[in-house]
Amino acid sequence: MIVLLLTIKVLFLGCVHVQTQAPHHETRPVLVHNLVPVQIEEPGEVRHDHQVFFEAYDRFCELAGTDDVRATALEYLWDNNETDDALALARKLESLVEDVAAGLKPFVSQDRFEPIPIYLVLGCGVSDGYALVADDDVWVFVDLVVLLHRGRDYWKQARFLLAHELGHAIHFSYQPDFAIESRHGHEEELWKTLLAEGIATHLSTQIYPLSDKEAFWGDILDSSEHEKWVRFAESERNDFGRRIKDYLEDPTTDPDVVADLLYVHDFDDLTRKRAGYYYGTQIVREYEQRHGSVLEAAYEDLVPYLLSYFDG
Ligand SMILES: [Zn+2]
Repeated sequence: MIVLLLTIKVLFLGCVHVQTQAPHHETRPVLVHNLVPVQIEEPGEVRHDHQVFFEAYDRFCELAGTDDVRATALEYLWDNNETDDALALARKLESLVEDVAAGLKPFVSQDRFEPIPIYLVLGCGVSDGYALVADDDVWVFVDLVVLLHRGRDYWKQARFLLAHELGHAIHFSYQPDFAIESRHGHEEELWKTLLAEGIATHLSTQIYPLSDKEAFWGDILDSSEHEKWVRFAESERNDFGRRIKDYLEDPTTDPDVVADLLYVHDFDDLTRKRAGYYYGTQIVREYEQRHGSVLEAAYEDLVPYLLSYFDG
């Protein structure tokens, strides 16, 4: 099953699936924005109409999130009367979709053409976006809560984010084995995440197209900070290689290595974070130089490249 190009469905989800203390928001309406016009619907109705997506999204929130993170996101949502901001952001995202979608055409083979729905949700707050897979369906979601939480320039990230998440969606539609629910055990969790981020980042440079700096960091880092980040990743490669080796042998020895490679939990010195995106992209490009497109590559095909990259 191959899924490409997209329709956009904008859902403002009141996080009805999350158990929290906020009784005055229990009746919060959900806005559904499906191109035009904007409508207001009850959460239950929206979930019913998009049940398969929301089941996958709930599972993502449970797999990826902690109660703490979700509680913080919801607190933010409810402490800020941000509906107008969210709607404005949703419209900006919508206006970008066609632009970004045009870049997908080279990846589309006409006989395997399906739309990729993009859900814009006021979501559980664990990730700004991702691609989800269930059976033969692939979706992209963007969590507006996370973007709104970033401050006034959040919308500038939108095109980088969309290109990246669509990169995930294209990849997962070719290789669903890389999707979050198909990562079994700590080794696959690390390797498939690192590869999936490398593939999505690499694809985003072709989809939009983006420069490497934009693909890795949008406009969060400026050029000199980006160069500093590349130098950091290069200089730490051997050290990360050693830490990964230890982690794979016994994950309790270095439980922070996955977060140090891939996640941003705070915004202090970003030039020392997410080096895994750099490594994943380098590995994917090395694979493509030898074999052509990485989209059809199975996990097992890529593992030798991971091992030799970190051994080198
Ligand atoms: Zn990603």
